[in-house]
Amino acid sequence: MARRYNYRRVKIHHSYSIPEFAKLLDVHKNTVSRWIAAGLQTIDKKRPLLIQGTVGRAFLQARQPPKSKCGPNEFWCFKCRDRRKPAFDEADYRPVTPTSGRLQALCPVCSRIMNRGVRKAEISRACPDVRVTEKVEQQRIDDSSDPTLNVVIKQEK
Ligand SMILES: [Zn+2]
Repeated sequence: MARRYNYRRVKIHHSYSIPEFAKLLDVHKNTVSRWIAAGLQTIDKKRPLLIQGTVGRAFLQARQPPKSKCGPNEFWCFKCRDRRKPAFDEADYRPVTPTSGRLQALCPVCSRIMNRGVRKAEISRACPDVRVTEKVEQQRIDDSSDPTLNVVIKQEK
């Protein structure tokens, strides 16, 4: 699970070296190097590498995980940007591996499909009050024939 970083500490009119940026956010220098490898832009390739405040801040902000983890019966709706309980208290379970998969439910507010990764053994703990239907083998057919589903999957990226 991604950690939350206090990106508000990053001054937008400031440039930071890797050690400065690491100290500011209370992380190891290697973490900053990993961020750079993951797409955090430096001003140029000259050493020492410098990170522009605006860029660093936007990068961290974009990586920020949702405000809190979903509680029981809750899904994260990317459209509403909020946690929602499934419409009709119903969800589908689509296995991805023999032991885990994803739960899909409709958002009661915007009617988009919400996904929640789950271990199969923990379905009843994750969604004690939701009627979960396991969908087997139909996954591929559904994914390609249901345009709504395809749209939602694209939006998540
Ligand atoms: Zn919604």
